[in-house]
Amino acid sequence: MAPLALLVAFAAVITAATGILTFRRRDETPAALPLTGALASVTAWGVVVVLMNSGTPRPWLDLLVVPQFAAVAGTVLSLRLFVDAVTGRPFRRRRTLLLCVEPVLLVLTVALDPWTHWFHASVTHVGDPERLSTTAGPLFWVHTGYSYLVIVSAALTIWHLRRTTSGLLRRQASTMLVAIAAPFVANLTVVFTPFARLDVDITPVAFAVTGVLFAYAVLHQDLLRLVPVARSLVVDTVSDAVYVVDSRLRLVDVNVAGRAMLAGEGCPQQAAAVVGRPFADTVDPVLVRAVGDGEGQSVVALASGVQIDVRTRWIRDHRGNALGRVVVARDVTEQLAAARALQEANETLRAQVATIEKLQADLAEEAAKDPLTGLRNRRRFVDDLTTRLDLAATAGQPLSLVLLDVDHFKAINDTYGHAVGDDVLVAVARALGGHARPEDLVRYGGEEFVVILPQLDTASARVRAEALRRACAEIPFAVEGLRVTISAGVATSPDHGSTPDELLLRADRALYEAKEGGRDQVALAD
Ligand code: GH3
Ligand code: MG
Ligand code: MG
Repeated sequence: MAPLALLVAFAAVITAATGILTFRRRDETPAALPLTGALASVTAWGVVVVLMNSGTPRPWLDLLVVPQFAAVAGTVLSLRLFVDAVTGRPFRRRRTLLLCVEPVLLVLTVALDPWTHWFHASVTHVGDPERLSTTAGPLFWVHTGYSYLVIVSAALTIWHLRRTTSGLLRRQASTMLVAIAAPFVANLTVVFTPFARLDVDITPVAFAVTGVLFAYAVLHQDLLRLVPVARSLVVDTVSDAVYVVDSRLRLVDVNVAGRAMLAGEGCPQQAAAVVGRPFADTVDPVLVRAVGDGEGQSVVALASGVQIDVRTRWIRDHRGNALGRVVVARDVTEQLAAARALQEANETLRAQVATIEKLQADLAEEAAKDPLTGLRNRRRFVDDLTTRLDLAATAGQPLSLVLLDVDHFKAINDTYGHAVGDDVLVAVARALGGHARPEDLVRYGGEEFVVILPQLDTASARVRAEALRRACAEIPFAVEGLRVTISAGVATSPDHGSTPDELLLRADRALYEAKEGGRDQVALAD
């Protein structure tokens, strides 16, 4: 076997191995099967080339031309389908069938060539062992031109992918570009240069380079795992309207949702053919203003009342040069309405909570108040007194307390009735109120009252207690013969105690003394 044929055989082994590898991953990505097809075709091509150069006898040798070109056509076809899959081009039956036309015609042409000589102008048998020597006919050039076109288009597709991606995807694209270029260059050499006189077609060897590179891409760059989904597909799938504008504010691209938004704005005929037109001519002026001339984000209301969230960002290539801007517009009408409704509900709730809190405060206020006299009642009194005693102690000041009790009140009730008794309590409360601040005056229970005298020592408190007593004794009553007196007991902190209980107990004892002493008088705790 010729050394070149050996090289081709070796290449076929490599492409076959890579093919098995990619076939195993056929469930992971739609790109795996076409790649397997391409590698299988190259392998077949290589095997046929080896057979053609290793003494295969006539008439088999003559017949090998048919599988040879079937493999060539299969390689070109699968390579193009692979590139489609890798770049996320959606599978279309029509396109695939169209790509199959040339391979079918090619095989027919080659099969009928012994009679027509359209493909190979001449075929002779040379060398020992015998092999074929051919000269190109017109259809050979048609086929070669077609194949180059397909390969170049595939390379351009990957070139575009490489330009529009970054990172690993970009490196994958670079690998694929080299992988496709290698056999292309090899084939150009074989067909057009003095090497054309080589005995063996070395294109399959170059395809082995392709195989190795693809193996590298599959194993090291995860080619078949991370097949990029075409961005146009992604952009068309998102529900936001996406517009791409260039530096002169011309619409360069628009996705499905973007067209729908234009159509919804009442310009369906424009929506169909907007690309290439000035952005300002195609969308609502409000939107144009929102896009401005840089990056930004704002919410604007269109003439139709629809509210749109507009975000604009620069698109830059990997060197940082501005290519244009992408405008993402989202209909936020419902979202904003929902947010407003939520806010309103919140405010209502807050107002209700405030009302409830006020009612609660009023209720607590009412509960701490005596309904008959309007004075504070005993509730919270002890707590308040504790606080005030602590403050007085901290300040080093005295605090006196007067406990007052209406004399013979039971008799008043009995003589004049409870209604008059109530009037008496109200009148006493008012008389005491004339000498004490509301926060210092408490209806302690029944016909008993407490007056707090802050900062007063026992002597001063006695003077004030006398004044209180007199004020009550001097209350004029319309009821014939009714006269009211009170008795009072005075206790002072810290002399007589420092807690409410101690002070009240001492004041109560003093009060008892006053009662014992004949009533209508003030008694001190000591
Ligand atoms: P003393 O001089 O010893 O204090 O004799 P008193 O009759 O005032 O003493 P006592 O504690 O025996 O009587 C208190 C009375 O006060 C008994 C109760 O019926 C009456 N009383 C308590 N609360 C009220 C009220 O809100 N209205 C009226 N009209 N009477 C009340
Ligand atoms: Mg009493
Ligand atoms: Mg009494």
